[in-house]
Amino acid sequence: MLPLCEILQITVNDLLSGEKVAEGDYQKKAEENMMDLIRENAENKERMTLSIICGVITIIAVCALVMLASYLELPAAVRILLLVCAVLTAIAGIGAAARLEVKAGYYECPHCGTLFVPTMSDYVKGWHTLTRRRLTCPTCGKTSMCRHRITR
Ligand SMILES: [Zn+2]
Repeated sequence: MLPLCEILQITVNDLLSGEKVAEGDYQKKAEENMMDLIRENAENKERMTLSIICGVITIIAVCALVMLASYLELPAAVRILLLVCAVLTAIAGIGAAARLEVKAGYYECPHCGTLFVPTMSDYVKGWHTLTRRRLTCPTCGKTSMCRHRITR
């Protein structure tokens, strides 16, 4: 941000506000920008928490359905119905958890440090560990394991 502001001859505050901030409004605008950032970080943390809750509930529900289908004395048709329910629950639950997670924070490019939000399709296609995902950086175009960051 700093080199960009130097080239444009503006302050970081101007950049974050999207306008030339008058001398008198400087303090007020700086505080607003800071509050926006804090709010954004809090929202991202909440999305991440909801995503984890959603994932855990899905796992419990799917396990329960599979166990009912496996261990109870049931006609074959009911058993199949329970397994279909388990698959549908897994798809819906994992889908909802992924949608929340992709919007919770940013991915950081290890080459240029750009923070970005991937598209849902890039997110789904990317190989991943718990904290990293293989994504293509929109700034430098390199594909690598990008770290997931909840706050900035
Ligand atoms: Zn990059």
